[in-house]
Amino acid sequence: MASDQWFGNSFAGKPSALYARSKEGAPQVVQRTQVGIVGAGPAGLFLSCLLARAGIESVVIEDRSRSHVETRVRAGVLEQGSVDLLTEAGLGQRLQREGLCHEGIGIRFGGQDHRIDFRALTGKAITVYAQHELVKDLIADRLAAGGPIHFEVSDVAVEGLAGDRPVLRPIRLALANLLIPLATVAGVSLVP
Ligand SMILES: Cc1cc2nc3c(=O)[nH]c(=O)nc-3n(C[C@H](O)[C@H](O)[C@H](O)COP(=O)(O)OP(=O)(O)OC[C@H]3O[C@@H](n4cnc5c(N)ncnc54)[C@H](O)[C@@H]3O)c2cc1C
Repeated sequence: MASDQWFGNSFAGKPSALYARSKEGAPQVVQRTQVGIVGAGPAGLFLSCLLARAGIESVVIEDRSRSHVETRVRAGVLEQGSVDLLTEAGLGQRLQREGLCHEGIGIRFGGQDHRIDFRALTGKAITVYAQHELVKDLIADRLAAGGPIHFEVSDVAVEGLAGDRPVLRPIRLALANLLIPLATVAGVSLVP
């Protein structure tokens, strides 16, 4: 909100908590960052991890609780490209250890078995690794690096997108006073 009064304005590349007063005079915590990411699903979290590796700070805002996103059962299969990128980014240790590599599938048709050999046909395989396990890995990585993830924050408003001071404003209860000025907003896809 352009009329908010700001205390401190240095941005040193890391999200930093500053204090400000709203135009009504209420105290606010202001967390400055470069990229605001709405949604701690695999896309938002992985983006945050990759940005951190490129020296770009981000703040992730998630509607649900940490335990909810860490136990929400969804996908179970990772394609080779995802596994490669996660491994390259140093996020694949547990997935390499615990994931099950499938190099093909068998189809039974007309009384006969037909093997579709992914590896022979494409040089690639798939890895069975539950999405919520990957989400746990990504959250642990971000939190270990000090990357803020705010859980249980709903009704996020994005303000000032067209201007030079866009802001993410979480609205719900405990974080009602948190304001996140940022340079970019990354929205992630949502699956009901
Ligand atoms: C049953 C099922 C099986 C699947 N199986 C596979 C599979 O085997 N392989 C595969 O590749 N894909 C599979 N998928 C698809 C895969 O789960 C999705 O592609 C993946 O979840 C998309 O990740 P995402 O981070 O883009 O979105 P999501 O996982 O949906 O994450 C979005 C996050 O944003 C949060 N959010 C939403 N609105 C707000 C808001 N206003 N403010 C703050 N936070 C918000 C949500 O709580 C959520 O945590 C499956 C999906 C389902 C449902």
